Amino acid sequence: MISPFDEDKPRDECGIFGIYGHPDAAYLTYLGLYALQHRGQESAGIVTSDREKVYYHHGMGLVVNVFDDEMLAKLEGDIAIGHNRYSTAGSSTLQNAQPLVREIVGDILGIAHNGNLVNAPYLRRELENKGAIFTSSSDTEVIAHLIARSGQIFIEDRVLDALTQVRGAYSILFMTRNGMIAARDPWGFRPLWMGRLKDAVVFSSETCAFDVIDAEPEREIEPGEMIIVTPNRIRSVKFASEKHAFCIFEYIYLSRPDSVVFGEIVNQPRRRFGMQLAREHPAEADIVIPVPDSANIAALGYAQESGIPFEFGFYRNQYVGRTFIQPTQTSREKMVNIKLNPIRDVVSGKRVVVVDDSIMRGTSSRRIVKILRRGGAKEVHFRISSPPNMFPCFYGIDTPTRQELIASSHTVEEIRKYIRADSLGYLSVEGMLGCVKNPDEFCTACFNGRYPVEFMGQNIQQLSLEFTRGRKR
Ligand code: AMP
Repeated sequence: MISPFDEDKPRDECGIFGIYGHPDAAYLTYLGLYALQHRGQESAGIVTSDREKVYYHHGMGLVVNVFDDEMLAKLEGDIAIGHNRYSTAGSSTLQNAQPLVREIVGDILGIAHNGNLVNAPYLRRELENKGAIFTSSSDTEVIAHLIARSGQIFIEDRVLDALTQVRGAYSILFMTRNGMIAARDPWGFRPLWMGRLKDAVVFSSETCAFDVIDAEPEREIEPGEMIIVTPNRIRSVKFASEKHAFCIFEYIYLSRPDSVVFGEIVNQPRRRFGMQLAREHPAEADIVIPVPDSANIAALGYAQESGIPFEFGFYRNQYVGRTFIQPTQTSREKMVNIKLNPIRDVVSGKRVVVVDDSIMRGTSSRRIVKILRRGGAKEVHFRISSPPNMFPCFYGIDTPTRQELIASSHTVEEIRKYIRADSLGYLSVEGMLGCVKNPDEFCTACFNGRYPVEFMGQNIQQLSLEFTRGRKR
């Protein structure tokens, strides 16, 4: 049975970057990917074109480990796209690394995709029945096959043909020998920007990558819009009406605070989440500390609003990435200890408010409370700058399955007991939406199960509930 709950199906967090018409295309893409490293740390790749030949390199690991000077020098040309990928463990393979490169009707096509398609498993089966051979488990290959099979002549029409068949989240860059196409799905789940670097056109998931290369951000690509860059022309095509379901988790966790995303510098809503959290869940405490680094800004907001002093109560080891190998439970425990250590003179004897951006399984929070108590904290008041995560994301945020999401089956009080905190408070959905500019334009499915795009014609919330019941029996 084709299921949206397939464990092997990669749910990707990714960063994409592209540049058209610059002699240092590969190097600038490398810098862009460096700035977007937070969106994916498992693999990185760059494809370039000198308008005759196409050059490609990808590998597992961080951008800085995948590329060096010698490698970048081999990536010739003035056109490039790049991709950083984080995916769930089962699908972390080189075959799934992007950009995907395929030869299609005599041209080379590179694809860098951020987001997840909800009808990919169905389309994939259909394509396989017609003889298509897949070499990866990523959704992006479905798009490549649809482009290859399109009856259209021009590449932009083939791309359009493919994009109108897929459903779900995509902020996506296509590169041919001589051109580039950038597109965003009609809901605009994931961000995508266009900018300029002198005569060159640049694209990036977030504006922080433009800052690094001194490019000027021009505008966000609109939901349902495709930008086609060819040697003498840039064209915009609106291929679907906008529906607007921007991912609120970009503000909560994924995007960098110095980036502009969905019309606002991320620092702003993220800080307001913390302020609103302080209004909704005040605490009698001596200090406010963040779980670094993702909750720094929200904790600042909490401290600002509550008047409780902000402190750094943890040292976070910067050299621990998400790819840290964790073969056993003991080593997983050790990992949190290596990653976070209490700064004892800050927390000892104190009533501590600790702010994190989210609770998924609850394992990190439980360990964080333990570490704080070990550091001598008198009381631990856990505060979460987002609502309880009850539903998995199918549009590109890596969340555990519904069974694993602790809030899907436990009350706040039960979660408090599990993590052994003195108190626990989550931001409310209404409170969170009150912190963003256009609340109706955001996807909040991970909190309320209201999925904007159904799974192959079926309501995902319903499927998810049935799946949970099925598993429990
Ligand atoms: P858990 O231990 O499963 O409850 O995970 C909660 C922690 O995971 C929080 O500290 C979050 O900052 C972090 N987190 C939330 N969403 C993600 C994500 N999509 N990828 C990686 N980490 C995340």
